[in-house]
Amino acid sequence: MSHEQKEPYKVYRAGGREFAVYLEYDEQLGESYPAYPDFEEHPEYTGEGRPFATAEQESCHYRKPGVPGGPTPGDCGGCGWFYRELTPCDPIGVCMCDARRRKPESVEKQRK
Ligand code: SF4
Repeated sequence: MSHEQKEPYKVYRAGGREFAVYLEYDEQLGESYPAYPDFEEHPEYTGEGRPFATAEQESCHYRKPGVPGGPTPGDCGGCGWFYRELTPCDPIGVCMCDARRRKPESVEKQRK
C-alpha cells in the first residue's frame, strides 16, 4: 500500500504531538481509508511517558468502562483511560492509565 496523496488527509494533535494521517487505498474494497498510526506495533509516548493510542486500537488488560458501571470497552476509544484532547471524536489520544506509563527517563533514552 502507498500514500494516495502527498498532502495528509488530516493532522491530529494529541499529547503535545501532531500526527499526519494519510489515505491508503484498499484494492479489495476499492476504497480509500485513513491509515492511523499503529501504536501497538510501534509504541510512542508523550514527554510524561504516557502511551499514545488510537480509538480503534483493541483494548488492553487495563481497560475500564468509559462511564462508571458502563460496558467493558472493546477498544481504546471506549475506555475510561483514553484522553482525547480536542473533540469527543478524536481518533488519536493518550492513555492515562498509570500502569501503562513509562518513566520519563526511559522515554528520553528511547529518543536518543
Ligand atoms: S486507553 Fe489505555 S488502558 Fe484503556 S484500553 Fe487503551 S491502552 Fe488499555
